[in-house]
Amino acid sequence: LEKKIENLQSGAKHEFVEVRKLNYKDRKRILVTGGAGFVGSHLVDRLMVDGHEVIVVDNYFTGRKKNVGHWIGHENFELIHHDIVNPLFIEVDQVYHLASPASPPHYMYNPVKTIKTNTVGTINMLGLAKRTRATLLLASTSEVYGDPEVHPQAETYWGHVNPIGPRACYDEGKRVAETLCYSYAKQENVAVRVARIFNTYGTRMHMNDGRVVSNFILQALQNEPMTIYGDGQQTRSFQYVSDLVDGLILLMNSNYSQPVNLGNPEEHTIREFAEMIRDVVGGKNSIVNKKAVMDDPKRRKPDISLANKVLGWKPRVSLADGLRKTVAYFKKELELRTGDPVK
Ligand code: NAD
Ligand code: UDP
Ligand code: UDP
Repeated sequence: LEKKIENLQSGAKHEFVEVRKLNYKDRKRILVTGGAGFVGSHLVDRLMVDGHEVIVVDNYFTGRKKNVGHWIGHENFELIHHDIVNPLFIEVDQVYHLASPASPPHYMYNPVKTIKTNTVGTINMLGLAKRTRATLLLASTSEVYGDPEVHPQAETYWGHVNPIGPRACYDEGKRVAETLCYSYAKQENVAVRVARIFNTYGTRMHMNDGRVVSNFILQALQNEPMTIYGDGQQTRSFQYVSDLVDGLILLMNSNYSQPVNLGNPEEHTIREFAEMIRDVVGGKNSIVNKKAVMDDPKRRKPDISLANKVLGWKPRVSLADGLRKTVAYFKKELELRTGDPVK
């Protein structure tokens, strides 16, 4: 399976990828909102190879057709250009609800649209799940914990979010989305799953989404100074995208309906992270400190004991391996873009 997925990532078309033949009873119709994005497209690969019918709905705000282009034309695959802020009427068994801008520069670019997507868009997807009796999995976020006062963060923590700060459109948007899930569960009997996803990286990340992994890798590859916002003592914990996809599929198919953290508990300061990426790339870049950004969470690390208990899940890909794969992908993308070999 892993080999097949790797082939897809290196540009194989579906004609060359065998998908499992499932019988009618086991084959599901699965909607992935935001399926042309970074995480969504990896999830789509897995669901397709597993033999399901997959429908991707995306408005291409940050996603790209190219991310799922290898499935276009496959009989089990459908790609719909649609904005989930508008209602959508299709028949499905499961909904992975991932549509939402995810990086701080993207969600701050149009905060009103970010809120609409997470509130109105989530209502529409819950309405669809209610009508079709589908299970809906919400891609929530560690940002619901805000700038946390407890460390590491367990699902029982209620969070510390500034409701009117620059990150609020996203943080509060996702908090309402969670509330909506449990309101629809209680009132309308919709089956819901809520994944609180911590920082994730990997191939098909946007090169220019302004997040720390993409910034540092691009800077290292292009021999530019690596920019740390603030003193670099803030921490994050990064998981590789394939681990997240494992967790999402396990959660969807479990019978656990309360929120579950999915993340890699290996915590590093942003400065350590800059040095690690520089080592993987093999550059000699300088590391410079820029102004700190407002409301930047100081520490973040998931407590994943719940995911381990109810899903038997834990991350498997080491930071070194994940970074190597991601750097190789960025190198290739850069070469495609510039036409010149990189390093
Ligand atoms: P992404 O930007 O690559 O993917 C989001 C996708 O949603 C894009 O394809 C975008 O075009 C689409 N989209 C946005 N608004 C839409 C709308 N109104 N209608 C239809 N499609 C819309 O981001 P990602 O990193 O793949 O994130 C996927 C999900 O996971 C998001 O919900 C995000 O909040 C969540 N998440 C991601 C991370 C992470 O580190 N990547 C961490 C926590 C949570
Ligand atoms: N909705 C949708 N697809 C469906 C069913 C509903 O997009 O298959 C939308 C619908 O337009 C509504 C929202 O989901 O705005 C919430 O649906 P719900 O049934 O809760 O609300 P109601 O239609 O009763 O207002
Ligand atoms: N960051 C940084 N340099 C960059 C981009 C980000 O030092 O070029 C920092 C940012 O201030 C934050 C951390 O890296 O402390 C992670 O930022 P990111 O935007 O990737 O995700 P967040 O976890 O804040 O949503």
